[in-house]
Amino acid sequence: MAKSETALLCLRNVTRSYKGEGTEVTALDDVSVTIQKGEFVAIMGQSGSGKSTLMNILGCLDVPSSGQYIINGHDVSTLSPEQLSALRLKTFGFVFQRYQLLPSLTAIENVALPAVYSNTPKAERTEHARSLLSKLGLGDRADHRPGALSGGQQQRVSVARALINGAEVILADEPTGALDSASGEQLLDLLKSLHGEGVTIILITHDAAVANHAERQIHLLDGKIVADSQNTSAHSPPVSKSSGHGNIDPFPSISGFAALIMAYSSLRLNWFRTLLTLLGIIIGVAAVTTMMAIGEGGKADVLKRIEAIGTNLLSVRPGGGNMRNTGDIATLTLNDAEALRELPGVLYVAPERSSRNTIRFGENNFSGRIKGTNQDYLKVKDWEMAQGVFFSEEDVATFAPVVVIGDTVAETLFDDNTRAVGEYILMSNSLYQVIGVLKSKGASAGGDDQDDEVLIPISTGRLKVFGRDYLSGITVKASGADVAADLKSRILATITQRHGKEDVMVFTTDSLVEAVTETQNTLTWLLASVAAISLLVGGIGVMNIMLVNVSERKREIGLRMATGAKPSDILKQFNIEAWVVCILGGAIGIVLGYVVIFIVSQLSITVAYTLMPPVLAFFTSLIVGVLFGYAPALKASRLNPIDALSED
Ligand code: ADP
Ligand code: MG
Repeated sequence: MAKSETALLCLRNVTRSYKGEGTEVTALDDVSVTIQKGEFVAIMGQSGSGKSTLMNILGCLDVPSSGQYIINGHDVSTLSPEQLSALRLKTFGFVFQRYQLLPSLTAIENVALPAVYSNTPKAERTEHARSLLSKLGLGDRADHRPGALSGGQQQRVSVARALINGAEVILADEPTGALDSASGEQLLDLLKSLHGEGVTIILITHDAAVANHAERQIHLLDGKIVADSQNTSAHSPPVSKSSGHGNIDPFPSISGFAALIMAYSSLRLNWFRTLLTLLGIIIGVAAVTTMMAIGEGGKADVLKRIEAIGTNLLSVRPGGGNMRNTGDIATLTLNDAEALRELPGVLYVAPERSSRNTIRFGENNFSGRIKGTNQDYLKVKDWEMAQGVFFSEEDVATFAPVVVIGDTVAETLFDDNTRAVGEYILMSNSLYQVIGVLKSKGASAGGDDQDDEVLIPISTGRLKVFGRDYLSGITVKASGADVAADLKSRILATITQRHGKEDVMVFTTDSLVEAVTETQNTLTWLLASVAAISLLVGGIGVMNIMLVNVSERKREIGLRMATGAKPSDILKQFNIEAWVVCILGGAIGIVLGYVVIFIVSQLSITVAYTLMPPVLAFFTSLIVGVLFGYAPALKASRLNPIDALSED
């Protein structure tokens, strides 16, 4: 018993059976075997005799159904998955019949792969891989991909890969099976020289000539060992009785950066499919970014116009209750306007009434809205005069035949607007003197001319132009924005009292702002739900493609696990791959969104470049990646490496 306790590998009464539907296959039946450090063992037997099953158990890719497996004194059944990964990473090196190289990686990258999982720095592992390849006679093939290498060369690459983490035990399952005899010989020479350096070699073969190179031959038949003999003809270096390391200390997970590099290289291989996967997310993020910019632009536009009106203005309009606000309700009068002037907090009161008319000067004429108002109008509107004066309280009281005109009107009638003041114009067969020209205000944000005003004292207008007594509205300027809300109810109460019923409506700019904001918020919610749906669809796309990815890459995943990747490493790799996809989609979406915004802004639609929507959309897509990438990554990390590797 003493011998087996110091032994490197020791199987005691190991049985491995596979349960199928109703049937049970016993692949290994009560096998006990001890292998010392430094031995060169050939395992022989017919196909189906249990050789691969034995090999998988020895290499910790599989566990016995019953019995004990002890590595260097550690009972394997007591080890955690991380400790088993550490054993696969450091102690064992696999060489497979069909090489199992990753076709997208160069020879040197394939060799260095297991060193990624032992967190060896890139420069160091590349250097080590290169020296191993030169030692194995492949120095000049290091940068070729497996497709450009012969079978024998590929198998030597896979031996180099098995050695990169300093394996104590090489497990080779029919390594010469796919090779021509010359390459087979070369490989056996390689294994023998490794044996000479003290590496334990366990070699599966059904070829007696190959087995003769080993110093010990174990024969399997139907899952049982039927012979275990020393081969006296084999030249054998002394078997070391000292035990190996059998390192079972778990390795820390691969770094996020290493996983990122892996994600990048696998996405690059399939960039077109990656792009299609991303489409949902790209469109979603671009749509949110664009629509929010247009929505915010529209809102800012409207708010700017409201602000231009002034925040301490109140507008009294006829209508309200069950009356329609047509402006033709004959209730609002000049006396109402004068009554409002008495209310506390009121600075100015400007009544309004207008009609369309044509005014003439010589050959020129101008058709437009003629507005009757009083001396307060200029202050209510915060307008300024360019030339002349505005009409006074006295002008209003005395029915003065005077007008104040906007810049456009002055240009139209007088060709040169500096000539306007003092001239007489003709309107409805009466002459009016131009006493002032308003300072130009330019076009409004909405694009219409603001300089087409023709203002006349309301008294004069009622008498000669409008033919009707009532007002279309009254604008009140409060002493401050803070009293506007109070004033609103007082104005309403005053007029309701005077009229005996509520037949006017009073608007403050606050109420307009509120209405606009409310509409905007509804729009925002609508956009957000559209975005959420498109991101959900995008997320399902990502999940779908990642699942396909996992199925397609089973062999790669199996190989990574067999060479020492922990399930957590695989989980990390595939999670990060999904995140990268989504981050990429989010970034492309934002760029696309801004391109569309730019194009739209060239169409003279107001847009607002705000940071919030794209940032929000981006992080949403990242969360989508985290949520929808997890299931495929979990599936990948739970793959059984043996099944994954045996898939054709
Ligand atoms: P060998 O490598 O010597 O050809 P294996 O170890 O692969 O033999 O297989 C031994 C026996 O176990 C065979 O009868 C085989 O059909 C069976 N076997 C191997 N793997 C599985 C499995 N995953 N499920 C069911 N039966 C299996
Ligand atoms: Mg086999």
